Amino acid sequence: MRLLHGRPVAERVNARTRERIAALHARRVRPLLAVIRVGADPAAESYLGRIRGLAGELGIDVDGLVASDASGLVPLIRRADAGAHGMLVLTPLPPGVGEAEVAEAIPPDRDVEGVHPYNVGLLTLGRPRFIPSTAEAVLELLRFYEVPLRGANAIVIGRSPIVGRPAAALLTQEDATVTLAHSRTADLASLTRAARIVVVAIGRRGFLRGDMIAPGATVIDAGINVTPAGIAGDADADGMAQVAGALSPVPGGLGAVTTALLLRSVVSAAEEQTR
Ligand code: NDP
Repeated sequence: MRLLHGRPVAERVNARTRERIAALHARRVRPLLAVIRVGADPAAESYLGRIRGLAGELGIDVDGLVASDASGLVPLIRRADAGAHGMLVLTPLPPGVGEAEVAEAIPPDRDVEGVHPYNVGLLTLGRPRFIPSTAEAVLELLRFYEVPLRGANAIVIGRSPIVGRPAAALLTQEDATVTLAHSRTADLASLTRAARIVVVAIGRRGFLRGDMIAPGATVIDAGINVTPAGIAGDADADGMAQVAGALSPVPGGLGAVTTALLLRSVVSAAEEQTR
């Protein structure tokens, strides 16, 4: 089984992003990303740390803003709008504020994580502008490793707005034939066994077993499950090793690509806004 490592994919993306940032800096534009969150969630803090690390290397400024409670979140988004080229609201959101309300508060031209209904609509129409970075990372990884997509049967397990749904839209755009599965899907294993490409994004450690996939299938694991032994994916890595043709490992797969693509989107936003 081939491991689809994210590092070389991220490096290729970052190399191009560096060139674009140099061009912006030459015009005295310094891309700025506002990262907004409520309270302190350990997973969100760790994602912010990775964003800051890469942004610092690339030459992008990151403004971390914290709302003290749910009611302060939307006003904080409106304030951040003044200076930032890109805005990202970290999840989980606290009770008392809805995903839709937050997504709609972000101006579409700064919505680098592609959650505003306008950007979601463009993606659905096959005219993507800003795309949720984990979903985009799924495609970037498949393209980098030259996994054939046209005409391939693909299944995406999980239909969240930030991973499953946009990943299914992107695969459809690449001419794969896509099934979007979720917690109410009947006889999931018969669908996954019929697929050449399986994307799993549900948040349950080891959920996808070896006996659920076709021999030689490519498995992209978006799951991040914190265990006492470290981070584990949604696919059972040992089971995959017996059957799959290729697997994106967790850790070491989508994570680095996701951060690289988020920051690439910040650069696109800065370019558009300063043209
Ligand atoms: P959500 O909780 O928003 O969505 C989970 C999805 O999985 C839902 O659509 C749900 O179905 C589906 N699901 C749950 N149980 C089952 C089941 N038994 N069979 C089939 N489908 C099921 O999660 P996210 O999309 O936000 O995250 C998914 C995973 O991806 C998590 O592990 C998360 O940590 C990770 N993630 C990784 C990122 C990265 O950068 N690599 C970024 C974001 C998330 P239903 O709709 O019916 O409830």
